[in-house]
Amino acid sequence: MKLYNSLSHEKEEFVPRTEGKVSMYTCGPTVYHYAHIGNLRSYIMEDVLEKYLRFTGLDVHRVMNITDVGHLTSDGDTGDDKMLKGAKREHKTVMEIADFYTKAFFADCAKLNIKTPDTVQPATGCIGDFIKVISSLIEKGYAYQAGGNIYFDTSKLDKYYMFGDISEEDLEVGVREGVEEDGNKRNKADFVLWFTKSKFDDQELKWDSPWGVGYPGWHIECSCISMKYLGEYLDLHCGGIDNAFPHHTNEIAQSESYLGHKWCNYWFHVHHLNTEGGKMSKSKGEFLTVSLLEEKGYDPIVYRMFCLSSHYRKSLMFTYDNLDNTAITYKKLIARIAAIKDEGDIDKAEYDRLYKGFTDAMDNDLNTAQALTALYDVLKSDASGKTKLALIAEFDKVLSLNLISAAEKLKASENAQEDIPAEVAELIEQRKAARKAKDFALADSIRDKISELGYIVEETRQGTKVTKK
Ligand code: AMP
Ligand code: ZN
Repeated sequence: MKLYNSLSHEKEEFVPRTEGKVSMYTCGPTVYHYAHIGNLRSYIMEDVLEKYLRFTGLDVHRVMNITDVGHLTSDGDTGDDKMLKGAKREHKTVMEIADFYTKAFFADCAKLNIKTPDTVQPATGCIGDFIKVISSLIEKGYAYQAGGNIYFDTSKLDKYYMFGDISEEDLEVGVREGVEEDGNKRNKADFVLWFTKSKFDDQELKWDSPWGVGYPGWHIECSCISMKYLGEYLDLHCGGIDNAFPHHTNEIAQSESYLGHKWCNYWFHVHHLNTEGGKMSKSKGEFLTVSLLEEKGYDPIVYRMFCLSSHYRKSLMFTYDNLDNTAITYKKLIARIAAIKDEGDIDKAEYDRLYKGFTDAMDNDLNTAQALTALYDVLKSDASGKTKLALIAEFDKVLSLNLISAAEKLKASENAQEDIPAEVAELIEQRKAARKAKDFALADSIRDKISELGYIVEETRQGTKVTKK
């Protein structure tokens, strides 16, 4: 498989260090609020990557942190503490906030068919590991104490900016935010490993350390959690493109200084989901969450399909019109799959040809849009129904669009509609007319009659739905 590597700026053959095994690390959410659908775009695409690696026979160990401490809105001791902000907003403790939004994050992931990583580690559970690595960095001369805090000394590195394709503007923002109010730093790009002097007097979570009571910086957690579970060498590190600088740049700096060798071979960055107002954010404009999409009547899987329809290295524009188009496409797709008859034999040659269409697309830097085209090629082909269904089930191990189960459900509901007795069908028509005339009292009384006859009638985005009780 070829993957674009942000380190080399090239599509490279993905070759794990140990044959057949992949160590994969993903920057997890900062659990101070719900994830927005932009964050979830990153997790959907990383999920597809993990599933495709497994699909090709690799044994993947994927680790994700949960950022429940240390993430400031900027890199120096200047921005707000995100967790503290969440706690104040909701009059709860930081740990209550972390617990609530961690659960909410995984509930959203489940709705989007995002598999939970093999290991999930909250940062607050690894304070001893952070202290160990920071102590070693001080010993080796890569870190210094100033104004009470511990900083990483970027001047000790031959090369600090590892992802050279980051725009100058991004670099400036990162550096400016980090330096403006923090006179303790020796170099502009230095970053905090451990805070003891914090502007947050009301900081709830503090731990004892060799440098005084305080708390860790954000960047150190990912390096330490990755090394704790995946060892000294990492095959693949993922995250949203905004994490490339400063977060991932700092992760590389501290990990490689600590280890004394190259740490991670491949860096996978998902580009942003934007709205018409620009970059998606939790504080600006409509706060787009999975729950909001559900409230508006969308199946979360439609959002997954929306993400898969575009390449992960292109920014993606979210509009409701675009999502509506995907909803229609998804509905048609499921109807086409439902219409396939499970008959004939598996035609091996045709199966292999169509299968290759899918793997060629995915092997080419995870081209999910092309993989969806390969799925349509299956539908269009002359292969037997059995061949088609077998291929669709295989592809869906990676796409996770409920292709088979949604088609089964559709067929079941169509059969159920066919079985409706004439008397109930007549009442349904009468209820429709009453609703059209806005006579909701009459519509409700007809619904009760239908219920007495043993049927439930409800309105969905797909129209009136009738089911047997
Ligand atoms: P956070 O919870 O802020 O730590 O972010 C979680 C993940 O979402 C990180 O990998 C970010 O890089 C990613 N992310 C943030 N905003 C967006 C966006 N608009 N589109 C895609 N990914 C994003
Ligand atoms: Zn991280």
